[in-house]
Amino acid sequence: MLDEPKAVTQHLIDAVGVLDALRWSAYGLGMSSSTTTRSETARTGTRPVVLGGRFARELPELSIPWSAEAAPAPQVVALNEPLAGELGIAPAWLRGDEGIALLTGAAVPEGATPVAQAYAGHQFGGFSPRLGDGRALLLGELTDADGTLRDLHLKGSGPTPFARGGDGYAAIGPMLREYLVSEAMHALGVPTTRSLAVVATGRPVRRETVLPGAVLARIASSHLRVGTFQYVATQDDRDLLHRLTDVAIARHAPAAASAERPALALLDAVIEAQAATIARWMSIGFVHGVMNTDNMTISGETIDYGPCAFLDGYDPASVYSSIDHGGRYAYRNQPIVAEWNLARFAETLLPLIDDDLQHAIELATGALERFSAHYADAWVALMRAKLGLGEAVSDEITATLATDLLGLMEVARTDYTSTFRALATSARGGVRPDVLESAAGEAWAERWLALEPHADAMDRVNPVYIPRNHFVEEALGAATDGDLAPFDRLLEAVGRPLDERAGLERYAEPAPATFEPYTTYCGT
Ligand code: AMP
Ligand code: MG
Repeated sequence: MLDEPKAVTQHLIDAVGVLDALRWSAYGLGMSSSTTTRSETARTGTRPVVLGGRFARELPELSIPWSAEAAPAPQVVALNEPLAGELGIAPAWLRGDEGIALLTGAAVPEGATPVAQAYAGHQFGGFSPRLGDGRALLLGELTDADGTLRDLHLKGSGPTPFARGGDGYAAIGPMLREYLVSEAMHALGVPTTRSLAVVATGRPVRRETVLPGAVLARIASSHLRVGTFQYVATQDDRDLLHRLTDVAIARHAPAAASAERPALALLDAVIEAQAATIARWMSIGFVHGVMNTDNMTISGETIDYGPCAFLDGYDPASVYSSIDHGGRYAYRNQPIVAEWNLARFAETLLPLIDDDLQHAIELATGALERFSAHYADAWVALMRAKLGLGEAVSDEITATLATDLLGLMEVARTDYTSTFRALATSARGGVRPDVLESAAGEAWAERWLALEPHADAMDRVNPVYIPRNHFVEEALGAATDGDLAPFDRLLEAVGRPLDERAGLERYAEPAPATFEPYTTYCGT
Protein backbone atom coordinates (compact mmCIF):
# COMPACT_ATOMS: atom_id res chain seq x y z
CA MET A 1 0.00 0.00 0.00
CA LEU A 2 1.02 3.58 -0.51
CA ASP A 3 2.12 5.78 2.34
CA GLU A 4 0.14 8.92 3.02
CA PRO A 5 0.25 11.00 -0.19
CA LYS A 6 1.99 13.90 1.51
CA ALA A 7 4.73 11.69 2.90
CA VAL A 8 5.29 10.20 -0.55
CA THR A 9 5.45 13.62 -2.14
CA GLN A 10 8.00 14.72 0.42
CA HIS A 11 9.99 11.59 -0.13
CA LEU A 12 9.96 12.31 -3.85
CA ILE A 13 11.02 15.89 -3.48
CA ASP A 14 13.94 14.64 -1.42
CA ALA A 15 14.85 11.94 -3.88
CA VAL A 16 14.25 13.18 -7.41
CA GLY A 17 16.86 14.63 -9.71
CA VAL A 18 16.43 17.68 -11.89
CA LEU A 19 14.61 15.92 -14.71
CA ASP A 20 12.14 14.26 -12.42
CA ALA A 21 11.63 17.55 -10.63
CA LEU A 22 10.54 18.99 -13.96
CA ARG A 23 8.15 16.13 -14.47
CA TRP A 24 6.61 16.54 -11.06
CA SER A 25 6.28 20.27 -11.30
CA ALA A 26 4.54 19.79 -14.64
CA TYR A 27 1.77 17.97 -12.81
CA GLY A 28 1.74 20.13 -9.70
CA LEU A 29 3.52 17.54 -7.61
CA GLY A 30 5.22 19.29 -4.79
CA MET A 31 7.63 21.59 -6.60
CA SER A 32 5.24 24.48 -7.02
CA SER A 33 1.65 25.18 -6.20
CA SER A 34 0.00 25.28 -9.60
CA THR A 35 -3.49 24.42 -8.44
CA THR A 36 -4.93 27.89 -8.72
CA THR A 37 -3.88 28.73 -12.26
CA ARG A 38 -6.87 27.12 -13.92
CA SER A 39 -9.58 28.12 -11.46
CA GLU A 40 -10.16 31.64 -12.77
CA THR A 41 -10.71 30.47 -16.33
CA ALA A 42 -14.37 29.96 -16.87
CA ARG A 43 -17.65 29.43 -15.30
CA THR A 44 -19.23 30.69 -18.47
CA GLY A 45 -21.67 28.66 -20.46
CA THR A 46 -22.57 26.72 -17.36
CA ARG A 47 -25.43 24.33 -17.63
CA PRO A 48 -26.06 22.17 -14.62
CA VAL A 49 -24.87 18.63 -15.15
CA VAL A 50 -27.62 16.23 -14.27
CA LEU A 51 -26.53 12.72 -13.35
CA GLY A 52 -29.03 9.92 -12.95
CA GLY A 53 -28.45 7.08 -10.55
CA ARG A 54 -30.40 4.43 -12.38
CA PHE A 55 -27.88 1.61 -12.08
CA ALA A 56 -27.36 2.33 -8.38
CA ARG A 57 -31.11 2.47 -7.76
CA GLU A 58 -32.29 -0.44 -9.89
CA LEU A 59 -29.47 -2.86 -9.14
CA PRO A 60 -28.33 -2.05 -5.61
CA GLU A 61 -26.98 -5.60 -5.19
CA LEU A 62 -24.44 -4.85 -7.94
CA SER A 63 -22.84 -1.78 -6.52
CA ILE A 64 -21.33 -0.22 -3.45
CA PRO A 65 -21.84 3.52 -2.94
CA TRP A 66 -18.35 4.95 -2.74
CA SER A 67 -16.48 8.21 -3.08
CA ALA A 68 -13.43 9.22 -5.04
CA GLU A 69 -10.29 10.07 -3.17
CA ALA A 70 -9.52 13.79 -3.31
CA ALA A 71 -6.90 14.73 -5.90
CA PRO A 72 -4.22 16.87 -4.21
CA ALA A 73 -3.48 19.10 -7.21
CA PRO A 74 -5.79 18.37 -10.15
CA GLN A 75 -4.85 19.63 -13.59
CA VAL A 76 -6.66 18.89 -16.86
CA VAL A 77 -4.25 17.31 -19.34
CA ALA A 78 -6.72 16.23 -22.02
CA LEU A 79 -10.29 17.34 -22.59
CA ASN A 80 -12.54 16.09 -25.35
CA GLU A 81 -14.43 19.20 -26.34
CA PRO A 82 -16.57 17.64 -29.11
CA LEU A 83 -17.67 14.86 -26.77
CA ALA A 84 -18.44 17.38 -24.03
CA GLY A 85 -20.61 19.15 -26.60
CA GLU A 86 -22.49 15.92 -27.40
CA LEU A 87 -23.19 15.58 -23.71
CA GLY A 88 -24.38 19.18 -23.42
CA ILE A 89 -21.55 20.19 -21.09
CA ALA A 90 -19.63 23.41 -21.79
CA PRO A 91 -15.90 22.63 -22.14
CA ALA A 92 -15.03 25.90 -20.41
CA TRP A 93 -17.07 24.81 -17.40
CA LEU A 94 -15.29 21.44 -17.34
CA ARG A 95 -11.95 23.24 -17.18
CA GLY A 96 -13.11 25.31 -14.21
CA ASP A 97 -13.15 24.33 -10.55
CA GLU A 98 -16.59 22.76 -10.63
CA GLY A 99 -15.83 20.85 -13.80
CA ILE A 100 -12.55 19.53 -12.43
CA ALA A 101 -14.34 18.54 -9.24
CA LEU A 102 -16.77 16.52 -11.38
CA LEU A 103 -13.98 14.97 -13.47
CA THR A 104 -12.13 13.79 -10.37
CA GLY A 105 -15.22 12.82 -8.37
CA ALA A 106 -14.51 15.45 -5.70
CA ALA A 107 -18.00 16.85 -6.09
CA VAL A 108 -20.93 15.24 -7.82
CA PRO A 109 -24.25 16.84 -8.77
CA GLU A 110 -26.97 16.67 -6.17
CA GLY A 111 -28.84 13.39 -6.24
CA ALA A 112 -26.03 11.41 -7.89
CA THR A 113 -24.76 8.29 -6.14
CA PRO A 114 -21.26 7.30 -7.25
CA VAL A 115 -20.83 3.53 -6.99
CA ALA A 116 -18.20 0.88 -7.49
CA GLN A 117 -19.75 -1.81 -9.67
CA ALA A 118 -19.52 -5.50 -8.89
CA TYR A 119 -18.62 -8.02 -11.56
CA ALA A 120 -16.96 -11.37 -11.92
CA GLY A 121 -14.92 -12.61 -14.86
CA HIS A 122 -12.91 -15.24 -16.61
CA GLN A 123 -9.35 -13.96 -16.71
CA PHE A 124 -7.20 -15.95 -19.13
CA GLY A 125 -9.75 -18.73 -18.80
CA GLY A 126 -9.79 -18.90 -14.98
CA PHE A 127 -12.94 -17.75 -13.20
CA SER A 128 -12.79 -15.03 -10.52
CA PRO A 129 -16.18 -14.76 -8.82
CA ARG A 130 -15.51 -11.27 -7.47
CA LEU A 131 -13.60 -8.62 -9.40
CA GLY A 132 -15.48 -5.33 -9.58
CA ASP A 133 -14.29 -1.74 -9.89
CA GLY A 134 -11.12 -1.76 -7.83
CA ARG A 135 -10.08 1.71 -8.89
CA ALA A 136 -13.09 3.06 -10.71
CA LEU A 137 -16.49 4.57 -10.00
CA LEU A 138 -19.69 4.95 -11.95
CA LEU A 139 -20.66 8.55 -11.16
CA GLY A 140 -24.06 8.16 -12.83
CA GLU A 141 -25.85 8.39 -16.15
CA LEU A 142 -25.97 11.45 -18.39
CA THR A 143 -28.54 12.02 -21.11
CA ASP A 144 -26.80 13.00 -24.34
CA ALA A 145 -28.03 15.30 -27.10
CA ASP A 146 -29.92 12.35 -28.69
CA GLY A 147 -31.68 11.55 -25.43
CA THR A 148 -29.59 8.39 -24.90
CA LEU A 149 -28.34 7.44 -21.44
CA ARG A 150 -24.57 7.30 -21.17
CA ASP A 151 -22.45 6.36 -18.18
CA LEU A 152 -20.00 8.83 -16.72
CA HIS A 153 -17.31 6.74 -15.10
CA LEU A 154 -13.96 7.50 -13.48
CA LYS A 155 -10.89 5.30 -13.62
CA GLY A 156 -8.03 5.82 -11.17
CA SER A 157 -10.21 7.55 -8.58
CA GLY A 158 -8.89 5.67 -5.53
CA PRO A 159 -9.26 2.26 -3.93
CA THR A 160 -12.71 0.75 -3.47
CA PRO A 161 -13.84 -2.35 -1.57
CA PHE A 162 -13.08 -4.28 -4.80
CA ALA A 163 -9.41 -3.21 -4.89
CA ARG A 164 -8.12 -6.65 -3.81
CA GLY A 165 -4.79 -5.24 -2.68
CA GLY A 166 -4.39 -2.86 -5.63
CA ASP A 167 -3.70 0.77 -4.80
CA GLY A 168 -6.79 2.08 -6.59
CA TYR A 169 -4.82 4.58 -8.64
CA ALA A 170 -3.76 4.98 -12.24
CA ALA A 171 -0.68 6.55 -13.76
CA ILE A 172 -0.96 9.28 -16.35
CA GLY A 173 0.58 7.22 -19.19
CA PRO A 174 -2.00 4.41 -19.19
CA MET A 175 -4.90 6.87 -18.81
CA LEU A 176 -3.65 8.90 -21.78
CA ARG A 177 -3.20 5.64 -23.69
CA GLU A 178 -6.87 4.82 -23.15
CA TYR A 179 -7.85 8.37 -24.13
CA LEU A 180 -5.78 8.29 -27.31
CA VAL A 181 -6.61 4.78 -28.48
CA SER A 182 -10.33 4.95 -27.68
CA GLU A 183 -10.66 8.23 -29.57
CA ALA A 184 -8.69 6.76 -32.49
CA MET A 185 -10.97 3.70 -32.49
CA HIS A 186 -14.02 5.95 -32.51
CA ALA A 187 -12.60 7.89 -35.45
CA LEU A 188 -11.99 4.56 -37.23
CA GLY A 189 -15.65 3.64 -36.82
CA VAL A 190 -15.15 1.01 -34.12
CA PRO A 191 -17.76 0.89 -31.35
CA THR A 192 -15.95 1.94 -28.18
CA THR A 193 -16.21 3.64 -24.86
CA ARG A 194 -15.16 7.28 -25.21
CA SER A 195 -12.79 9.45 -23.24
CA LEU A 196 -14.02 12.76 -21.91
CA ALA A 197 -10.94 13.88 -19.99
CA VAL A 198 -7.72 12.95 -18.29
CA VAL A 199 -6.96 14.94 -15.16
CA ALA A 200 -3.55 14.63 -13.51
CA THR A 201 -4.22 14.27 -9.80
CA GLY A 202 -0.96 15.58 -8.39
CA ARG A 203 -0.64 12.28 -6.56
CA PRO A 204 2.46 10.16 -7.09
CA VAL A 205 1.63 6.58 -8.00
CA ARG A 206 4.06 3.80 -7.28
CA ARG A 207 4.65 1.32 -10.08
CA GLU A 208 8.08 0.05 -11.13
CA THR A 209 9.04 3.67 -10.68
CA VAL A 210 7.03 6.48 -9.12
CA LEU A 211 4.76 8.09 -11.71
CA PRO A 212 2.32 11.00 -11.84
CA GLY A 213 -1.22 9.86 -11.07
CA ALA A 214 -4.27 10.65 -13.19
CA VAL A 215 -7.99 10.01 -13.47
CA LEU A 216 -9.72 9.20 -16.75
CA ALA A 217 -13.34 10.28 -17.17
CA ARG A 218 -14.92 7.71 -19.46
CA ILE A 219 -18.24 7.75 -21.28
CA ALA A 220 -19.91 4.48 -22.23
CA SER A 221 -23.35 3.45 -23.39
CA SER A 222 -23.15 1.36 -20.20
CA HIS A 223 -20.58 -0.52 -18.16
CA LEU A 224 -22.52 -3.78 -18.22
CA ARG A 225 -20.12 -6.59 -19.03
CA VAL A 226 -20.33 -10.33 -19.55
CA GLY A 227 -18.71 -10.36 -16.10
CA THR A 228 -21.67 -8.46 -14.63
CA PHE A 229 -23.97 -11.31 -15.65
CA GLN A 230 -21.45 -13.87 -14.41
CA TYR A 231 -21.42 -12.17 -11.01
CA VAL A 232 -25.22 -12.39 -10.85
CA ALA A 233 -25.10 -16.04 -11.92
CA THR A 234 -23.01 -16.78 -8.82
CA GLN A 235 -25.68 -15.18 -6.62
CA ASP A 236 -28.41 -17.65 -7.59
CA ASP A 237 -31.00 -14.87 -7.49
CA ARG A 238 -33.48 -15.12 -10.32
CA ASP A 239 -35.14 -11.79 -9.54
CA LEU A 240 -31.77 -10.02 -9.73
CA LEU A 241 -30.97 -11.75 -13.03
CA HIS A 242 -34.34 -10.60 -14.34
CA ARG A 243 -33.72 -7.01 -13.32
CA LEU A 244 -30.20 -6.98 -14.77
CA THR A 245 -31.50 -8.44 -18.04
CA ASP A 246 -34.25 -5.81 -18.17
CA VAL A 247 -31.71 -3.03 -17.67
CA ALA A 248 -29.48 -4.48 -20.40
CA ILE A 249 -32.43 -4.78 -22.77
CA ALA A 250 -33.60 -1.24 -22.05
CA ARG A 251 -30.16 0.19 -22.75
CA HIS A 252 -28.85 -2.00 -25.55
CA ALA A 253 -31.56 -4.03 -27.22
CA PRO A 254 -34.95 -2.35 -26.70
CA ALA A 255 -36.57 -4.47 -29.41
CA ALA A 256 -35.83 -7.58 -27.32
CA ALA A 257 -38.35 -6.42 -24.72
CA SER A 258 -41.25 -7.42 -26.96
CA ALA A 259 -39.66 -10.64 -28.25
CA GLU A 260 -41.17 -13.99 -27.36
CA ARG A 261 -38.05 -14.76 -25.29
CA PRO A 262 -36.48 -11.43 -24.30
CA ALA A 263 -33.34 -13.00 -22.77
CA LEU A 264 -32.69 -14.99 -25.94
CA ALA A 265 -33.28 -11.88 -28.05
CA LEU A 266 -30.78 -10.02 -25.87
CA LEU A 267 -28.25 -12.81 -26.40
CA ASP A 268 -28.81 -12.59 -30.16
CA ALA A 269 -28.33 -8.82 -30.12
CA VAL A 270 -25.10 -8.99 -28.09
CA ILE A 271 -23.72 -11.74 -30.32
CA GLU A 272 -24.41 -9.63 -33.40
CA ALA A 273 -22.97 -6.46 -31.87
CA GLN A 274 -19.81 -8.19 -30.66
CA ALA A 275 -19.30 -9.98 -33.98
CA ALA A 276 -19.44 -6.59 -35.74
CA THR A 277 -17.01 -5.00 -33.29
CA ILE A 278 -14.46 -7.80 -33.45
CA ALA A 279 -14.62 -7.78 -37.27
CA ARG A 280 -13.75 -4.08 -37.13
CA TRP A 281 -10.82 -4.79 -34.78
CA MET A 282 -9.52 -7.36 -37.24
CA SER A 283 -9.95 -5.03 -40.19
CA ILE A 284 -7.74 -2.34 -38.64
CA GLY A 285 -5.17 -4.70 -37.10
CA PHE A 286 -6.16 -4.01 -33.49
CA VAL A 287 -5.11 -6.40 -30.74
CA HIS A 288 -7.05 -5.83 -27.51
CA GLY A 289 -4.69 -7.92 -25.45
CA VAL A 290 -6.89 -8.77 -22.48
CA MET A 291 -10.22 -10.12 -23.65
CA ASN A 292 -11.27 -11.39 -20.25
CA THR A 293 -15.04 -11.63 -19.81
CA ASP A 294 -14.98 -8.62 -17.47
CA ASN A 295 -13.56 -6.65 -20.41
CA MET A 296 -16.32 -7.61 -22.83
CA THR A 297 -19.31 -5.30 -22.89
CA ILE A 298 -22.98 -6.06 -23.42
CA SER A 299 -23.21 -2.94 -25.62
CA GLY A 300 -20.61 -4.22 -28.08
CA GLU A 301 -18.33 -1.28 -27.29
CA THR A 302 -14.63 -1.96 -26.99
CA ILE A 303 -13.56 -1.35 -23.39
CA ASP A 304 -10.36 -1.15 -21.34
CA TYR A 305 -7.34 -0.20 -23.36
CA GLY A 306 -4.60 -1.72 -21.22
CA PRO A 307 -2.13 -3.88 -23.10
CA CYS A 308 -3.63 -3.16 -26.54
CA ALA A 309 -1.54 -2.67 -29.68
CA PHE A 310 -1.83 -2.36 -33.45
CA LEU A 311 -0.22 -4.76 -35.89
CA ASP A 312 2.91 -3.44 -37.53
CA GLY A 313 4.31 -6.08 -39.92
CA TYR A 314 1.44 -8.49 -40.60
CA ASP A 315 1.65 -11.57 -38.44
CA PRO A 316 -1.67 -13.07 -37.35
CA ALA A 317 0.01 -14.77 -34.38
CA SER A 318 0.96 -11.37 -32.92
CA VAL A 319 0.77 -11.12 -29.13
CA TYR A 320 1.99 -8.03 -27.30
CA SER A 321 0.92 -8.41 -23.69
CA SER A 322 3.72 -9.36 -21.32
CA ILE A 323 1.42 -11.71 -19.40
CA ASP A 324 -0.22 -13.47 -22.36
CA HIS A 325 2.32 -16.29 -22.43
CA GLY A 326 0.09 -18.79 -24.21
CA GLY A 327 -1.04 -16.31 -26.85
CA ARG A 328 -4.68 -16.75 -25.80
CA TYR A 329 -5.46 -13.21 -26.92
CA ALA A 330 -3.31 -13.19 -30.08
CA TYR A 331 -4.66 -11.17 -33.03
CA ARG A 332 -5.98 -14.19 -34.91
CA ASN A 333 -7.68 -15.67 -31.84
CA GLN A 334 -9.89 -12.67 -31.16
CA PRO A 335 -13.03 -13.92 -32.94
CA ILE A 336 -12.69 -17.32 -31.25
CA VAL A 337 -12.22 -15.77 -27.84
CA ALA A 338 -15.21 -13.50 -28.39
CA GLU A 339 -17.33 -16.53 -29.14
CA TRP A 340 -15.99 -18.28 -26.04
CA ASN A 341 -16.84 -15.23 -23.92
CA LEU A 342 -20.31 -15.06 -25.43
CA ALA A 343 -20.84 -18.71 -24.50
CA ARG A 344 -20.12 -17.72 -20.88
CA PHE A 345 -22.70 -14.92 -21.28
CA ALA A 346 -25.25 -17.35 -22.72
CA GLU A 347 -24.78 -19.68 -19.73
CA THR A 348 -25.79 -16.93 -17.33
CA LEU A 349 -29.04 -16.33 -19.25
CA LEU A 350 -30.17 -19.97 -19.39
CA PRO A 351 -32.63 -19.70 -16.46
CA LEU A 352 -34.47 -16.90 -18.27
CA ILE A 353 -34.37 -18.45 -21.73
CA ASP A 354 -36.52 -21.45 -20.84
CA ASP A 355 -37.61 -23.26 -17.69
CA ASP A 356 -36.53 -26.51 -19.29
CA LEU A 357 -32.74 -26.39 -19.06
CA GLN A 358 -32.18 -28.71 -22.03
CA HIS A 359 -34.39 -26.57 -24.22
CA ALA A 360 -32.69 -23.40 -22.98
CA ILE A 361 -29.30 -24.90 -23.87
CA GLU A 362 -30.52 -25.79 -27.36
CA LEU A 363 -31.80 -22.27 -27.98
CA ALA A 364 -28.65 -20.63 -26.61
CA THR A 365 -26.45 -22.95 -28.67
CA GLY A 366 -28.41 -22.01 -31.78
CA ALA A 367 -27.77 -18.33 -31.03
CA LEU A 368 -24.05 -18.92 -30.45
CA GLU A 369 -23.79 -20.82 -33.70
CA ARG A 370 -24.88 -17.65 -35.48
CA PHE A 371 -21.80 -15.79 -34.24
CA SER A 372 -19.53 -17.09 -36.96
CA ALA A 373 -21.96 -16.13 -39.74
CA HIS A 374 -22.40 -12.62 -38.29
CA TYR A 375 -18.65 -12.30 -37.96
CA ALA A 376 -17.97 -13.57 -41.49
CA ASP A 377 -20.59 -11.21 -42.98
CA ALA A 378 -19.16 -8.22 -41.13
CA TRP A 379 -15.58 -9.14 -42.02
CA VAL A 380 -16.32 -9.66 -45.72
CA ALA A 381 -18.16 -6.33 -45.88
CA LEU A 382 -15.15 -4.57 -44.34
CA MET A 383 -12.69 -6.34 -46.62
CA ARG A 384 -14.85 -5.55 -49.65
CA ALA A 385 -14.56 -1.88 -48.73
CA LYS A 386 -10.82 -2.08 -48.00
CA LEU A 387 -10.25 -3.64 -51.41
CA GLY A 388 -12.53 -1.10 -53.10
CA LEU A 389 -14.81 -3.77 -54.55
CA GLY A 390 -18.42 -3.22 -55.49
CA GLU A 391 -21.46 -5.20 -54.38
CA ALA A 392 -21.41 -7.10 -57.67
CA VAL A 393 -18.32 -9.00 -56.53
CA SER A 394 -19.47 -12.04 -54.59
CA ASP A 395 -18.67 -12.60 -50.91
CA GLU A 396 -16.76 -15.69 -51.88
CA ILE A 397 -14.49 -13.93 -54.34
CA THR A 398 -13.99 -11.05 -51.90
CA ALA A 399 -13.09 -13.37 -49.03
CA THR A 400 -10.67 -15.38 -51.19
CA LEU A 401 -8.95 -12.25 -52.48
CA ALA A 402 -8.63 -10.80 -48.98
CA THR A 403 -7.33 -14.06 -47.53
CA ASP A 404 -4.80 -14.43 -50.36
CA LEU A 405 -3.56 -10.89 -49.87
CA LEU A 406 -3.19 -11.44 -46.12
CA GLY A 407 -1.24 -14.61 -46.91
CA LEU A 408 1.17 -12.60 -49.07
CA MET A 409 1.46 -9.98 -46.36
CA GLU A 410 2.20 -12.63 -43.77
CA VAL A 411 5.06 -14.04 -45.82
CA ALA A 412 6.54 -10.62 -46.53
CA ARG A 413 5.65 -9.20 -43.05
CA THR A 414 4.60 -5.98 -44.72
CA ASP A 415 3.10 -3.23 -42.61
CA TYR A 416 -0.63 -3.88 -42.27
CA THR A 417 -1.94 -0.31 -42.31
CA SER A 418 0.27 1.18 -44.99
CA THR A 419 -0.10 -1.80 -47.33
CA PHE A 420 -3.87 -1.35 -47.46
CA ARG A 421 -3.56 2.40 -47.83
CA ALA A 422 -1.03 2.00 -50.64
CA LEU A 423 -3.33 -0.33 -52.60
CA ALA A 424 -5.41 2.64 -53.72
CA THR A 425 -2.36 3.97 -55.58
CA SER A 426 -2.13 0.67 -57.46
CA ALA A 427 -5.84 0.88 -58.25
CA ARG A 428 -5.08 4.24 -59.87
CA GLY A 429 -2.36 2.60 -61.94
CA GLY A 430 0.47 3.94 -59.79
CA VAL A 431 3.25 2.14 -57.92
CA ARG A 432 2.44 -1.13 -56.24
CA PRO A 433 3.11 -1.77 -52.57
CA ASP A 434 6.07 -4.07 -51.80
CA VAL A 435 3.80 -7.00 -51.13
CA LEU A 436 2.70 -7.11 -54.76
CA GLU A 437 6.21 -7.18 -56.19
CA SER A 438 6.68 -10.94 -56.14
CA ALA A 439 5.31 -13.18 -58.92
CA ALA A 440 2.52 -14.28 -56.57
CA GLY A 441 1.86 -10.63 -55.75
CA GLU A 442 1.57 -9.75 -59.42
CA ALA A 443 -0.84 -12.60 -60.00
CA TRP A 444 -2.95 -11.37 -57.09
CA ALA A 445 -2.91 -7.79 -58.43
CA GLU A 446 -4.09 -9.00 -61.82
CA ARG A 447 -7.07 -10.80 -60.31
CA TRP A 448 -7.91 -7.81 -58.14
CA LEU A 449 -7.49 -5.11 -60.80
CA ALA A 450 -9.75 -7.09 -63.13
CA LEU A 451 -12.55 -6.37 -60.65
CA GLU A 452 -12.07 -2.61 -61.14
CA PRO A 453 -11.45 -1.51 -57.55
CA HIS A 454 -12.57 2.01 -56.68
CA ALA A 455 -9.54 3.90 -55.38
CA ASP A 456 -11.39 6.88 -53.88
CA ALA A 457 -13.71 4.57 -51.97
CA MET A 458 -10.63 2.77 -50.60
CA ASP A 459 -9.21 6.06 -49.34
CA ARG A 460 -12.43 6.54 -47.42
CA VAL A 461 -11.87 3.37 -45.38
CA ASN A 462 -8.14 2.56 -45.24
CA PRO A 463 -6.54 4.80 -42.62
CA VAL A 464 -3.33 6.75 -43.09
CA TYR A 465 -2.95 7.33 -39.36
CA ILE A 466 -3.50 4.83 -36.59
CA PRO A 467 -1.99 4.96 -33.09
CA ARG A 468 1.17 3.14 -34.14
CA ASN A 469 2.80 1.49 -31.17
CA HIS A 470 6.06 3.41 -31.41
CA PHE A 471 4.30 6.76 -31.57
CA VAL A 472 2.02 5.89 -28.67
CA GLU A 473 5.08 5.02 -26.57
CA GLU A 474 6.81 8.22 -27.64
CA ALA A 475 3.75 10.33 -26.77
CA LEU A 476 3.12 8.69 -23.40
CA GLY A 477 6.77 8.84 -22.39
CA ALA A 478 6.91 12.56 -23.14
CA ALA A 479 3.57 13.19 -21.40
CA THR A 480 4.80 11.39 -18.30
CA ASP A 481 7.78 13.76 -18.31
CA GLY A 482 5.49 16.76 -18.59
CA ASP A 483 5.60 17.38 -22.36
CA LEU A 484 2.16 16.97 -23.88
CA ALA A 485 3.06 18.22 -27.36
CA PRO A 486 3.75 14.76 -28.91
CA PHE A 487 0.49 13.43 -27.40
CA ASP A 488 -1.49 16.33 -28.82
CA ARG A 489 0.05 15.92 -32.28
CA LEU A 490 -0.59 12.19 -32.38
CA LEU A 491 -4.15 12.74 -31.19
CA GLU A 492 -4.62 15.28 -33.99
CA ALA A 493 -3.39 12.71 -36.54
CA VAL A 494 -5.47 9.76 -35.34
CA GLY A 495 -8.56 11.90 -34.74
CA ARG A 496 -8.95 12.17 -38.55
CA PRO A 497 -7.36 8.93 -39.66
CA LEU A 498 -8.34 9.07 -43.33
CA ASP A 499 -7.29 12.62 -44.21
CA GLU A 500 -3.66 12.77 -45.21
CA ARG A 501 -2.33 16.11 -43.97
CA ALA A 502 0.89 18.05 -44.47
CA GLY A 503 3.07 18.12 -41.38
CA LEU A 504 1.87 14.72 -40.14
CA GLU A 505 3.93 12.58 -42.53
CA ARG A 506 5.92 10.81 -39.84
CA TYR A 507 2.73 9.40 -38.28
CA ALA A 508 2.04 7.48 -41.48
CA GLU A 509 5.41 5.75 -41.35
CA PRO A 510 5.74 2.13 -40.25
CA ALA A 511 7.78 1.39 -37.16
CA PRO A 512 11.52 1.06 -37.66
CA ALA A 513 12.70 -2.55 -37.62
CA THR A 514 14.57 -1.82 -34.39
CA PHE A 515 11.27 -1.18 -32.58
CA GLU A 516 10.16 -4.81 -32.47
CA PRO A 517 9.47 -6.84 -30.43
CA TYR A 518 6.89 -4.59 -28.78
CA THR A 519 5.62 -5.53 -25.32
CA THR A 520 2.62 -4.09 -23.49
CA TYR A 521 1.65 -4.29 -19.82
CA CYS A 522 -1.59 -4.74 -17.85
CA GLY A 523 -2.35 -3.52 -14.38
CA THR A 524 -0.95 -0.11 -14.98
P1 AMP B 1 -8.32 -4.19 -15.96
O1 AMP B 1 -7.08 -4.95 -16.31
O2 AMP B 1 -8.12 -2.68 -15.94
O3 AMP B 1 -9.50 -4.59 -16.76
O4 AMP B 1 -8.63 -4.56 -14.44
C1 AMP B 1 -8.93 -5.86 -13.98
C2 AMP B 1 -9.38 -5.79 -12.54
O5 AMP B 1 -8.32 -5.32 -11.70
C3 AMP B 1 -10.56 -4.86 -12.29
O6 AMP B 1 -11.31 -5.43 -11.26
C4 AMP B 1 -9.87 -3.59 -11.83
O7 AMP B 1 -10.72 -2.78 -11.07
C5 AMP B 1 -8.72 -4.14 -11.02
N1 AMP B 1 -7.56 -3.22 -10.94
C6 AMP B 1 -6.66 -2.95 -11.93
N2 AMP B 1 -5.72 -2.09 -11.48
C7 AMP B 1 -6.03 -1.79 -10.19
C8 AMP B 1 -5.44 -0.96 -9.18
N3 AMP B 1 -4.35 -0.24 -9.41
N4 AMP B 1 -6.06 -0.91 -7.99
C9 AMP B 1 -7.16 -1.62 -7.73
N5 AMP B 1 -7.76 -2.43 -8.62
C10 AMP B 1 -7.21 -2.52 -9.84
MG1 MG C 1 -11.33 -4.15 -16.95
